Amino acid sequence: MTREDQGLLLKEWLSEAKRITVLTGAGMSTESGIPDFRSTEGVWTKHKSREELMSLSFLRRYPDEFWPIYKEIFQLKLQGDYQPNRGHIALKRLEDLGKQVTIVTQNVDGLHQRAGSTRVLEVHGSLQHAFCPKCQTTYELRFINEHQLPICQTLTSEGGLCQTILHPGVVLFEDQVRYLNESVQAALEADLFLVLGSSLQVGPINQLPLLVESDPLMKKVIINRERTIMDHCFDLVLHGEIGELLDGAVPKS
Ligand code: NAD
Repeated sequence: MTREDQGLLLKEWLSEAKRITVLTGAGMSTESGIPDFRSTEGVWTKHKSREELMSLSFLRRYPDEFWPIYKEIFQLKLQGDYQPNRGHIALKRLEDLGKQVTIVTQNVDGLHQRAGSTRVLEVHGSLQHAFCPKCQTTYELRFINEHQLPICQTLTSEGGLCQTILHPGVVLFEDQVRYLNESVQAALEADLFLVLGSSLQVGPINQLPLLVESDPLMKKVIINRERTIMDHCFDLVLHGEIGELLDGAVPKS
């Protein structure tokens, strides 16, 4: 099939679909200027011991060291400057066209919500907040940015401050992913399952394509710059830029 034919098929399937479940990865946000993890310029290539540094045990053992590294890795202070790109906006347009669109995102940047999408499951959490593991109070990004070492300010029943070092809203290594059941449910209920910008190497969410692979009624599409280990699960595999392909495939009402 030519590239043009692939584009036409994507357009047709998006137009016919009523319930679309989208699994997005770091590639969704590269056009917004946020590097992905595994390309040569991705953040993890500079931080080789990533699993150790961004793990629950490291945070518990060395909380003073954890927070500056976390902020550097996630460029936390810069988050406000990033804007949704054409891909995020095209997904929102699908919703505006009356389709039920559920976005299962591995991203922690909040850009789907900023584009206006309403059904977003952040399975790896969010950079937009942190929480106290003791009293569960949540804190917004501004508070995290204002404090080099964010510590819980909540008043305790004894009249003092809680003062527990906060945990970030992103899911760390050794931690549980969020909304797994809801994501599985959304994948199974879809009539179109779309993966955008993920190398599909991170479990357990990379199991979703395998889960829907054998459904004969569901259309399965992946858009990614390069091949993935799961390409065999999809009816349509598009190697290209998400923004360009999706923007061209979703009508601008
Ligand atoms: P990944 O880095 O493993 O894979 C990203 C894939 O997207 C790559 O295969 C790459 O070729 C492709 N890609 C990059 N830009 C693209 C574009 N414009 N169009 C099409 N394809 C493009 O990312 P992953 O699979 O999401 O898994 C790694 C982890 O990365 C996740 O756990 C996620 O939490 C985290 N992460 C999130 C962000 C973010 O929130 N924006 C950024 C970096 C990493």
